[in-house]
Order: sequence, then structure tokens, then C-alpha cells
Amino acid sequence: MKTAVFLDRDGTLIEDVGYLHRLDQMALFPWTIDSVRALNHAGLPVVVITNQSGIARGMFNDAFVEETHRHLSARLAAGGARVDAYYYCPHHPAGKIEAYTRQCDCRKPAPGMVERAARDLGLDPSRSFVVGDTWLDVGVARAVGARGILVRTGGGAFHEGRGSKEISADAVVDNLAAAASWILTRMKSEV
Ligand SMILES: [Mg+2]
Ligand SMILES: [Zn+2]
Repeated sequence: MKTAVFLDRDGTLIEDVGYLHRLDQMALFPWTIDSVRALNHAGLPVVVITNQSGIARGMFNDAFVEETHRHLSARLAAGGARVDAYYYCPHHPAGKIEAYTRQCDCRKPAPGMVERAARDLGLDPSRSFVVGDTWLDVGVARAVGARGILVRTGGGAFHEGRGSKEISADAVVDNLAAAASWILTRMKSEV
């Protein structure tokens, strides 16, 4: 059972443009490739977990999300970095597309995507880390007993200011690079 890093996509790995629906909107942060590669080199599986309710809302489809992930992986691979697996939630309770309009167990902060990844890849969520730019991401960490890190990119700085009475992050850091450093420091001290 391996320790892994679960990464949010929009606002964490790439710029949050609000319902990304064209490939030319995909913009990596300048530190994204180096940060993912550092996690790869530490032997930590890197798993993307992303809410994509734009599918339920009829704004784009599964094929587009999968194509986006192939493009992201290609950009990462060009810099020697790798995402081991992608999981996305296409649902929303107030969607338009009937097949995806429901309460589900995978829309963050529900733990469904982490639980599926844990089963598929043999991961131990309780020893793992979740990084994201909203309290939904930190909420997933809480739901599975992982460490939760809020980044200030995307909506993070806004959400940091709003706080959350029920949830607190294990760390609030500027960006994914700082989150990767925080994780790698933790890993060393736990060996
Ligand atoms: Mg996000
Ligand atoms: Zn879902």
C-alpha cells in the first residue's frame, strides 16, 4: 500500500479558466512540470482527481476531458514528468445531461475518486496527500484521512481568506511547487 499524491487539476496543475472547454485554454503554471517530476523522482504515484461538472451541465463531454488529459500528459512528458492516473467526476445534482445529473459519491469533497484510485493502484489514502485550490480538495483529504494542502493559485487565495469553520488545511502554500516541497520534507522526516 503506497503513499501517493492526489492533485486537483484546475487552479492547481493548470490555470483555472472556469469550465475549460477548448484545448487552447490549457495553460500549465511555470512550475507545474518541475513539481510533478520531483514527486515522480521521490517514487510517489501522482493521481489527478478533478470535478468536471461541465459534463453534467452539457458544456463539454467525456471525450473532451480525456483529450485534455492526454494533452496535459504530453506536455508533462516533454519535461520528463508523469501523471500516473486521472479520475474525474462528470456529475452534478443540478446538471442538464440526464445520465450525469445526480448526487454521486465521487464529486469532491466526497472521497469516491480517491477510493477508486486506492483500489486500482494499491494506494494508502491515510498516508497520502491531497493538494488543491479549494476547501473541497482539503475536504477530500479529511474524508480519507490524508494530509490536505491548500495552494493559493487558482481560487486558493480567495478561499484561504474565506476559511472554513469545519475544515483546516495541514498547510497553506503559494503553489504546487511549494506543496511538493512540503510533501517531500514530510516524507523524509517520516522515513
Ligand atoms: Mg481546483
Ligand atoms: Zn461524481
